[in-house]
Amino acid sequence: MSQSQSSSAVILRTRPYGDIDVIATFLTRDFGKLTGIAKGAKHSRRRFVNCLEPFARVKVFFRLKTGATLAFLERCELQHSGFAMAVPTRFAYGSYLSELVDLLTHEADPIASVFDLLEAALRYIEEGPATSSLLRCFEMQLLGALGYGPPLRQCAGCSTPFAEGEAVFYDALQEQVLCQRCGALGPQTQKFASETMATLADLQGLSLAESRGLQLPSATAREAAMFTGHLLATHLPRPLRSLELIAALAR
Ligand SMILES: [Zn+2]
Repeated sequence: MSQSQSSSAVILRTRPYGDIDVIATFLTRDFGKLTGIAKGAKHSRRRFVNCLEPFARVKVFFRLKTGATLAFLERCELQHSGFAMAVPTRFAYGSYLSELVDLLTHEADPIASVFDLLEAALRYIEEGPATSSLLRCFEMQLLGALGYGPPLRQCAGCSTPFAEGEAVFYDALQEQVLCQRCGALGPQTQKFASETMATLADLQGLSLAESRGLQLPSATAREAAMFTGHLLATHLPRPLRSLELIAALAR
């Protein structure tokens, strides 16, 4: 077995394994997403106390065995507990962010900006409301970091910049945003206001801290959520379970 390694990490999900072990999936800053087994975690009073909970930020110590799919988790040091997320709205939106990262990232493919983005977003959800500007900024930055962010200020077909007040068209098959002339040609396109694209392009360039206080006009907020929903769906291997938690908040 290899030598012990460590990294800052966010717990994405855990599940029991047998009577005393726990299997946990982490997003680590230095090694990407990892899944590991914490032997005896349910009985351990020292090695994993309060660490193997959703949203917990920890320093994880582990070993990787050649050819094994699971890392061997030695211990965790708690850096920030997930207890503050045990409020329905925080839990629902935190689950949404974690699930997006979990489903869109690959094991052992480290992208430090994705770790920093999730860590910061969870902190802001603990501190205040999950505003639509915060959520859309998170989504656009996540997609951008993973190489999935399409240009939003100009037509992908003819490079003409979008003018204010103009309708633009999203082609889900090509994952392109097109002007009226290029977009009207495609049967699979969906119409959006250019202001929605400009807002999302602005959010791509802002930090979460800068974006979260912005008030989006309600029509823009609605369209922006619809657009990022389409964009994310293209890359998600299955529908998001956390959307049911968010829907339940409105009931
Ligand atoms: Zn065009």
